[in-house]
Amino acid sequence: MKIIVLDRDGVINLDSDQFIKSPDEWKPIPGSLEAIARLNEANWRVVVASNQSGVGRGLFDMDTLNAINEKMVKAIGHVGGRLDAIFFCPHAADSPCECRKPKPGMFLQIAERFNVDLDGMPVVGDSLRDLQAGVAVGCKPYLVLTGKGKKTVIDPALPEGTVVFPDLAAVVAQLTA
Ligand SMILES: [Mg+2]
Ligand SMILES: [Zn+2]
Repeated sequence: MKIIVLDRDGVINLDSDQFIKSPDEWKPIPGSLEAIARLNEANWRVVVASNQSGVGRGLFDMDTLNAINEKMVKAIGHVGGRLDAIFFCPHAADSPCECRKPKPGMFLQIAERFNVDLDGMPVVGDSLRDLQAGVAVGCKPYLVLTGKGKKTVIDPALPEGTVVFPDLAAVVAQLTA
């Protein structure tokens, strides 16, 4: 089974420093939805793993997060794609939880849910912590330059072996070539 793990904000949709707090604020990055459909066609299962500390901070509630994710799922469906699962950490940044990236808790949940080996699994993110969480459990890090990626790419802490692409569509073009 081929599984790829995507961050959400800054990878699939445009990011905002003010958080994505409503379905209206969720806007896809051009080409990202079609890229997910292309992955599905190439027999990849696509899983989202996303920090959503806005819930823990009280900026939006679980119903709103579900509505935002539902908009994303529908938009992907409109271009013939699908997500196999959406994992998220709703906890605040100072929470001692095990799921907030850069901790690898969500990746361990993915391994358990799909009964897969995480070694070499592609993880696509725009922030250092997305990549660090994946690398901690053996995933292969893909940095995209959308979202916070242009800041992340010059970070000296970028994990060794990180490959850099302009956006998700470019990652997928390479993976499905
Ligand atoms: Mg992000
Ligand atoms: Zn958490």
